[in-house]
Parts: sequence; C-alpha cells; structure tokens
Amino acid sequence: MIAYLSLTLPTSARRRLEVGLVLAMVLIATACSDRTSTSAIVQKGELRLITRNGPTTYYLAKDGPRGFDYELAAEFARELGVELVVEQAFSLDALFAALERGEADLLGASLTLTERRALNFAPSSPFAQQTPLVVYKVGQGRPRTLSDLEGLRIGVLAGSSHEAQLVEIRAGGVDWLEWISLATGDPLDLLGQVGGSELDVAVVDSREFFIQQHLVPSVAVAFDIGKPRDIVWYLPAEFKDSELLASINEFLDKQRENGTLERLGQVYFEQDDRISRVDSQTFVNAVRRELPKHQQIIQLIAQENEIDWEMLAAISYQESHWNPEATSPTGVRGMMMLTRATASDLGVTKRTDVGQSLRGGAKYFLSLRRRLPKDIREPDRTWFALAAYNIGMGHLEDARVLTERTGGDPHVWSDVLEVLPSLEDRSVYPSLRYGYARGLEAAGYVQNIRHYYKILRWQTARARRPLPPADAREYLPERLEDITLLAL
Ligand code: GLU
Repeated sequence: MIAYLSLTLPTSARRRLEVGLVLAMVLIATACSDRTSTSAIVQKGELRLITRNGPTTYYLAKDGPRGFDYELAAEFARELGVELVVEQAFSLDALFAALERGEADLLGASLTLTERRALNFAPSSPFAQQTPLVVYKVGQGRPRTLSDLEGLRIGVLAGSSHEAQLVEIRAGGVDWLEWISLATGDPLDLLGQVGGSELDVAVVDSREFFIQQHLVPSVAVAFDIGKPRDIVWYLPAEFKDSELLASINEFLDKQRENGTLERLGQVYFEQDDRISRVDSQTFVNAVRRELPKHQQIIQLIAQENEIDWEMLAAISYQESHWNPEATSPTGVRGMMMLTRATASDLGVTKRTDVGQSLRGGAKYFLSLRRRLPKDIREPDRTWFALAAYNIGMGHLEDARVLTERTGGDPHVWSDVLEVLPSLEDRSVYPSLRYGYARGLEAAGYVQNIRHYYKILRWQTARARRPLPPADAREYLPERLEDITLLAL
C-alpha cells in the first residue's frame, strides 16, 4: 500500500501518510497486546463465556442453547461481531477457578455480587437481583427465623454467596450454625435433597427457586434470609477499570433501557401464580407414574404430526390426566377428550383407544392452528389454538373481537387471555356473536398446558445436560475462598 502511494502522491504527503500509518499500526499493536481491551476480543473473534447448566443460566433446548446469561452474552457477542463460545463448569468454585486461569473472558451464571468476589474478580454492574431464601419440605414444620434452624441439616451450594453468608452469620456470634456444602453448581440438587429428606432446609436464590419449585413441589419457602442481592457477571481481576468492562457495563445499561433485561426476565423467570403447589405435585407424580406408560406412543404420534411431544403430553394431561378411559359428564371421552362428533370427523372409531385418541387430538389441534388468521405469530398462535381446542373457534373469535373493542391487540395472547373470562359476564356476552362461553375455564386450560409444557421441556433439557466428569478432582479445584467446611 505504501509502495503504491509512493507512486501517486507528492513526497510531503507521502511522508505524512507513512508516519500516520506507522502510528496506526503501533496503536493497533498496543491495543492487541492489551488483553483487557474490547478490541482484543474483536481481534480474537470470540467471546468465551463460562457458565453453569440450569434454567436461569444456560441449557440446551431442542432448538439450541437458551438461558438468561447465555442470551445476554450472545447479544453482547453479536454487538461485537464475534462468536460466543460457551464452556460449562459443574461447581461454583470451578467457575471462578476457570476464570482465574484465563480460560474464559466472562463468567455469567446468575452469580451474586459479594465483597470477597469483588476483591478477587472484576464484577460488572448489576443487572438483576435475587433474594436468598431458606426452603423446607412442607409437612416438616416451617422454620420462620434463623434460630428455628438450630439442629437442622442446612444445605448450600459449595462456594456460593449463601455459604459466604452463613460464614458471616456464624462469625457474628451464631456459634451453633453448621451446614453442609454440596459440591455442585445446580440448586436443583439442593431442592432434591430437601424433597428427599436428606437435608431439612437449603438456602437458594429466589428467582431460581420459583422457576424450579414446580419440579420439586414438596419444597416451599420458609423465610427470606437477608435482603435482595445484586446479580452480576465477573471478569478476571485485571479487568477492573478496563475498556472491556466499561463496554460490558454500557451494553448492560442499554439492555435495561431498551427493555431487553425485562423481556428476558419474563421469559426465564415468569412465575405462574395460577398453578398451586398441589397441582404441581399431582403433575410431577403423574409424570413419574403415568407418563412412562404412554410416553412412547405420545412421542411417536407427536413426531408423525411434527409437534413437540411435550406439547402433546401436556395437552393430554390437561384433558384426561393421561387416563385413556376418562369420561366427562358432557360425554367427551378418552385421552384427548374428544366429543363424539369431533371424533367421527377425525375418523376416530374408538375414543378410548390411546393411539386413536392422541392421533385425532393432535390432528384437531393442528387444524385449529392452521385455521387461525395468518398474522397471529408463534408462540401465541399455539396458545390461541389451545384455547380454540377448549372453547371452539367461534368463541375464541368472539374473545378476539372483544379484545379489539376494549383496546387490546387481538393477535396477542396475553391481551386475549385478559378478556376471556368476560365471555361469562352477562353484561358482555349477549353482544357477542356466539354468546356465552366458559371463558375462565379456557383461560385456565391454556395456562395449565403452558405450565405443564414448560416443566416437561425443562425435564427434557435437564436430561440432555452434560454430567460432571467421573473424577471429582476435575471439577472441584482447590477452594478459592478459605471457607471452613463444617459438618461435612
Ligand atoms: N447466586 C448464588 C451465588 O452467587 C448461586 C447459588 C444459587 O443459584 O442458588 O453464589
């Protein structure tokens, strides 16, 4: 390039350009040698995220990776124009150890900001909050204060902010406080041990707990142990005051302002208040006892019809609790509770035949989904089809008309969901084309299926997660924090 310029430019201009180019090269070289600059990441072409596997952080769904930390980091990588490379670790200590060894650029795993970590690492600005909770097994007597925990087997994740918190409480004079630190990065292991009575209580984070509790419904909140705590990402210590950390913080600010943080929060932490713990317990029991009897045929028929098997399983559970002989007082029958008329339209000759019922139901669901207006997008399209499965297309259309009338968007499920109950309202339904319908029931119907679907999907994703190496030494590095393990 310089040679080419020398042919075409007068000497003085050439000289200035040469100096300029040399300067630029020096600047680029300096920037590249500075590991803490954003351009070092851009140069490398990849951002290495280390995380742990779980519904709030990172997991493999059927259609690819998901998770709050994952999606946020993926967006940051996209902005930088680099590839996101994800590594997983199986304990909290292993996460920090990998970061310290320089094996990752960024640690994002729903981690709390603690004083100790802030000394040893470079935390980002907070982008979420979680409250530490003590959880217990229902029926075992609910502890209400710290002193109620005396003599109980208390579990925490080894290396967690909760362990640090207990150390602090003990140092503050609560001498009897002892706990068991589980060498795993998965709070569900803790919940499982409380549910299985290997532990009496555990300390876990609130958002984490509320989305996982449906998997272990026998576990409930005893009390909050402390105030909400900030959740941050961590970078290696030398990144304090670095350009990379500044751009991460700027990125996080932007995600807050443009609503991304809130949207991701809704996707990953949305709590379903409608579903009671008892319903979840019944569902989880049925998944264990009834589903295995029918899972194979559900999967086969789902595959034939190109729908998620978890969706077909969720619908059939909501319809009949997976009872092939189910019969309602109104005469609907079978696994998918088809009416006689629908069954004969679909060519179903025996409604109590599991295969026929599932096949007929799947086809009916798909035909409803196809018939919906084109401009209703997924995933809402599926929720609308489910509502139609329950109350029929006519009433659903009425609900959409009503949604528009009351200023909502008839293409958005959450808006239509809100008006559905008024199909039962005497001051409303006479003005609708198809009149009265059990709208409240339809609303519950869809929300239940969504809930069951979510649980089943998460169970499938969990089954797909990598397992820790057989040799524990590979994932339990030396403890980073000098915490005395008590009562192990
Ligand atoms: N937020 C906790 C920590 O930073 C992780 C433990 C949990 O998810 O319950 O250590």
